[in-house]
Parts: sequence; structure tokens; C-alpha cells
Amino acid sequence: MFIRTVEHDTSLDKFRAEVRDFCERELPSVIREKQKRGQHLEKHEYISWLQRLGSRGWNTGKWPKEHGGLGWEPAQFLAFQEELGRAGAPPLMSFGPTMAGPVIYTFGNEAQKRQHLPGIIKGDLWWCQGYSEPGAGSDLAALKTRADRDGDDYIVNGQKIWTSTAHWADWMFALVRTDQTAKKQEGISFILIDMKTPGITVRPIIGITLGHHLNEVFFDNVRVPIANRIGEENKGWTYAKFLLANERVGNVDVAKVEGNIEQIRQLMAETREAGKPLSDDPTFNRRLAELEVGLATVKALMADQLAAARLSGAPSLMGAAALKLRGTELQQGILQTGLDVLGRHGMVYQSDALHAGWNGEMIGPESSADVIYEHLYRRAATIYGGSSEVQKNIIAKGALGL
Ligand SMILES: Cc1cc2nc3c(=O)[nH]c(=O)nc-3n(C[C@H](O)[C@H](O)[C@H](O)COP(=O)(O)OP(=O)(O)OC[C@H]3O[C@@H](n4cnc5c(N)ncnc54)[C@H](O)[C@@H]3O)c2cc1C
Repeated sequence: MFIRTVEHDTSLDKFRAEVRDFCERELPSVIREKQKRGQHLEKHEYISWLQRLGSRGWNTGKWPKEHGGLGWEPAQFLAFQEELGRAGAPPLMSFGPTMAGPVIYTFGNEAQKRQHLPGIIKGDLWWCQGYSEPGAGSDLAALKTRADRDGDDYIVNGQKIWTSTAHWADWMFALVRTDQTAKKQEGISFILIDMKTPGITVRPIIGITLGHHLNEVFFDNVRVPIANRIGEENKGWTYAKFLLANERVGNVDVAKVEGNIEQIRQLMAETREAGKPLSDDPTFNRRLAELEVGLATVKALMADQLAAARLSGAPSLMGAAALKLRGTELQQGILQTGLDVLGRHGMVYQSDALHAGWNGEMIGPESSADVIYEHLYRRAATIYGGSSEVQKNIIAKGALGL
């Protein structure tokens, strides 16, 4: 492995200080406190923070200037994420800024850009991703939700599954089948659906964390204007892949991962075994050092992919796959270490402690519920955004030129 040397950039230091000051002033104490305790935020709390970031254009700082972004270099974006993480701010939202927005400004028409980009930049609206279906996850092109033309509308029928935060969403970007006879990748269109449209039912799926994050979404004769289709009919697969590459680069929030490492360091200092803190234990220290090296590697990979996105509009599918694979495996390695530091306390998952107002007694260290929640939730990191096996297939095909 080679080590990069980076020249010290004083303008970046100034920017970091600006972000720190902003967080100090603008991050509401209730959000800061909840973040510190690992407690779940309400939608209005999250939105109010995103709107504050939006007032500076910071939700979409890495977008090109001609689309309303600030044209940030990768280093500036990474510095921004790090400072947010260190200030205890919630992670950036990716559905609008990283996924929907770039598809809309790259492939959408002027009316669509006018309608949707300001809401994403300002942080006003919540988006969700309607890709996966029962029977169409890794084999996404097998999706069956159909959109049939009727005058100026499509009539959408079918089902999406594993739709993260659909219960909060104002809009969904969705893949639908608009040609039943074409080869499967060729009959798909990319449409934007207003979640208030009659005929949409959102049902919760309670996962391993016992929290409500995932949903099933049912469409029963849902009318969606044809004007809400992005790009050409039946060409949605191209836009879908563009979005997936962006999504995979955003799958690992380096600030969050850095925060997890810091949390483990504190836990090691607090936890005593045989009269000594675990921070004196050479085995745990070695693990921590390896994880820190892993994080540096992932940051370098991410900077490369963000740079590729600046040059050619999107990261490469293969590069994004490598980053997603490395980043999510690292994340799981870090969280497993957290669980190992918790030791026997890791067997008690007090999920109620993650809700505001809980005043029970914590068994084990203060942060145990958060550490266990993250460990459980991020088991899915090697599944969502495309499973690790699928990423390996993409890398292998790219490397072999298939
Ligand atoms: C927490 C979470 C959040 C999610 N959020 C969203 C969301 O917001 N929107 C959305 O649309 N989807 C979302 N998903 C769905 C996610 O994208 C799919 O779960 C994922 O693509 C895998 O699909 P699947 O679950 O159908 O598994 P399957 O495709 O059935 O895969 C099952 C197993 O088979 C393996 N496998 C399948 N095909 C191959 C192959 N060709 N080669 C090698 N191995 C293979 C997989 O790696 C996996 O281990 C989310 C999932 C989770 C867990």
C-alpha cells in the first residue's frame, strides 16, 4: 500500500473552523443530546437541522455550481463530514442530495429541475428509494411494479420492499416496468412519485434493531403524471445504475465510522478487566490501530471516487463497488470490536433507551444500547445498496473486462 502525502491546505482549516462555529451555534441542544445518547430523532428534528445546513447550501455542497451546488472538492466534502461528526451532528441525508438530486440534474428536464432541486438543496423534503421488490433485490431488473399509460398519467400497480424511511418520505424515486415485452433491463422507467398520491400504502417492517426504519410500499392504481418520468421511457436502467454508483459511494459515512472508533476508545478506557482498563490491553489496542488504518484507506478510496464523480458526472460502478465493499466491511469490523469491548453487557439490548424520555436503568456502560443498535443495524450494511457478493461480481466483471 502506498501512503499519500497531502500538502497542508489552510483554506480547508478555515472552512473546518467555519463548520465548527456553525454547529456550535446552530445545532439544537435537543438534537445534540439525542445524538450523544444514540437516541432516535423525530422527522421534524432531522428536517429542522437539514434546513439549517440548507441555508448555507451545505446539504449539496459537492454538487456542481451550475446545478445550485457549491462545487466542493472531495477534500472539502470529507472535511465537512468529519466536522459534522465531531460536532455530534446527525449524518447527512443521502436520498435527496446523493441519489435523487444528481439523477434529476443530469437526466431531468428544466421543469423537473425547477420543481425538485430547490427542495433538496434547502433540505425541506424527504425522499425515499423505491427500487427493491420481493423477488427483485440483487436481480433488480426483474422488478414487476408496472406503470401503464392512461392519458397524461401512468397508472402504477405493484409493491416495493425494504423502503427505508418511506413513512417519512414526501417523494419517492422509483423504478417501474413500462414495457412488459422488452428484455428485462430495457422495459424499465425511472419516475418520481408524490407519496401523498391516493392508492399508496406504507406498512412498517420492524427489523432486528426493533426500530421502525424499513417499510413495504404498495401501489394500487396510483396515478403518476408522465411528466414525472426522468429521461426517456424504458431507459430507466441507465439512470438507475448511475444512481447506484453514487449511492454506494455514500453508503459509508466516514464521520460516523470515525465516531464509532472514538466511542470504542472511550468504552475501552471505561471498561476494566482484572483491575485494568481495556485501553491497556495490547490485543484491543492492536485491533483499534488496524481499524484506524482501514479508515484511512477508505477515506482515500472515497476521495478518489468523489474526484471521479467531479470529472465525469458519476463515480465508476467498479470503483464504487470496491469502496462499498471495503467501507461496509470496515464498519462491521469496528462495530464487532465495540461489541467485544462491551463483553457480557453486549448480551443485554435495551432498545427502549434509544427513545427520548426513557428513564430506566442502563445495564452496562451508558453507550451500550447505541453500540448494540449500530452493531445490529449495520449487519445490513453489506446488504443494502447491493450485497457484498454483488459488489464482488461487479469488480470481477470490470477487472476481467466482461
Ligand atoms: C436495512 C436495509 C435498508 C434497505 N433500504 C432500501 C431502500 O431504501 N430502498 C430499496 O429499494 N431497497 C432497500 N433495501 C434493499 C436492498 O437493496 C436489498 O436487500 C439488496 O439489494 C439484496 O436484495 P434481497 O434482499 O432481495 O436479497 P437477494 O437478492 O435475494 O440475495 C440473497 C443472497 O443471495 C446472494 N446473491 C444474490 N444474487 C447473487 C449473485 N448473482 N451472485 C452472488 N450472490 C448472489 C446475495 O448476496 C445474498 O446473500 C434495503 C435493505 C436493507 C437490509
